[in-house]
Amino acid sequence: MNNAVLASDSTPQARQERGQRAVFCGLTSIVWLHRKIQDAFFLVVGSRTCAHLLQSAAGVMIFAEPRFATAILQDKDLAGLADCNEELDRVVGQLVERRPDIKTVFLVASCPSEVIKLDLGNAAARLQRNHGSGVRFVEFSGSGIETTFTQGEDSCLQRLVGELQADDSGEQLLVVGTLADIVEDQFRRLFDALGIANVHFFPGRRADELPPVGAGTRVLLAQPWLGDTSRALAARGARLLTAPYPLGAEGTLAWLKAAADAFGVSADRFDEVTAAPYQRACRAVALHRERLAGRSVSLLPDSQMEVPLARFLSEECGMALGEVGTPFLEQSLLAAELKRLPADTALTEGQDLEPQLARLREARPDLTVCGLGIANPLEAEGLRTKWSIELVFTPIQGFDQAADLAGLFTRPLAREQRLGGFQWN
Ligand code: SF4
Repeated sequence: MNNAVLASDSTPQARQERGQRAVFCGLTSIVWLHRKIQDAFFLVVGSRTCAHLLQSAAGVMIFAEPRFATAILQDKDLAGLADCNEELDRVVGQLVERRPDIKTVFLVASCPSEVIKLDLGNAAARLQRNHGSGVRFVEFSGSGIETTFTQGEDSCLQRLVGELQADDSGEQLLVVGTLADIVEDQFRRLFDALGIANVHFFPGRRADELPPVGAGTRVLLAQPWLGDTSRALAARGARLLTAPYPLGAEGTLAWLKAAADAFGVSADRFDEVTAAPYQRACRAVALHRERLAGRSVSLLPDSQMEVPLARFLSEECGMALGEVGTPFLEQSLLAAELKRLPADTALTEGQDLEPQLARLREARPDLTVCGLGIANPLEAEGLRTKWSIELVFTPIQGFDQAADLAGLFTRPLAREQRLGGFQWN
């Protein structure tokens, strides 16, 4: 069945689905946020379930000096909330005293009913008054109600936008969305070579080094799940550049071109800087294309990376797209990607799990990109899967990572070949 609804310009439009969903909550984003922001502490105010989720998502890491924790709330009625606030103040007081390296404490709200009763925004303001300016307190939500796991980062960065200094004095490029340090360094070298001087990455490696924002700020999104953050930046005067995401050789080239055009870089200089890494990335991806071309892939809604990944798999790897599901589809953030998808792509927004799985079982694609929770049952039915969360945790952006990205999709198919169930061409 083809679910695609075509707009007049042949850009595929999404069909809406509402029903049971199978996604992680926003607390999961603490795993990559705490690795990136090295002077921050993430204190989840939640239940034992939240603590378990965080431990399993982080791979039960044992640190001498961990930078995330869960303050577990027991069942309280409203009268007991005064005690909760006192307890929170006590725990944070101990943390600040013992950890002078921590410059920002994120209070992360969760969805148990006891936490919803607690006003963490007020708690952050109270803690800020009590502790002065040496450490910043920021509240955000990682709740799992009607959200998906990458929205934790969106919520965190949106709150941080409120902390940015206003500055309308000059032009700057603001790259928004968590990138691995190695990828950030590669992009910084490319922007330097292009002559784009004033470049900030948000979030950066230190939460106490926040970039300014104003009318001269041009925002280039590195991740496709930052709708609220982009709107908060726009409200501060920044302008969003329209571009695909830096996945694969073509995605990275077009992403850099959007920045180059916004900063008046000449076509000659752009070609001179990007030609060699672009060609290298094309050659590296081509090795994987030999194995992926013509194979079918479906993507179930999970990370919000589904549309850019579908574009990469179709455009650069030659894969045949089955259903492409995404939890939310922000047209303004995905316009450049949607245009590059085949016009008949079966795009769905939202999820109704059982009918979606029934369609998948009928289509039986060679590969399914999906959440961790449904991958094992699908594998047991003989379908090959790739966990979408792995694509969020792995450095995959930029020219130098293009082959690694393609390799993440060849691996499950190669495993199947080793088991004798699949033959390469
Ligand atoms: S925030 Fe909600 S969905 Fe997430 S682990 Fe805690 S209870 Fe579960």
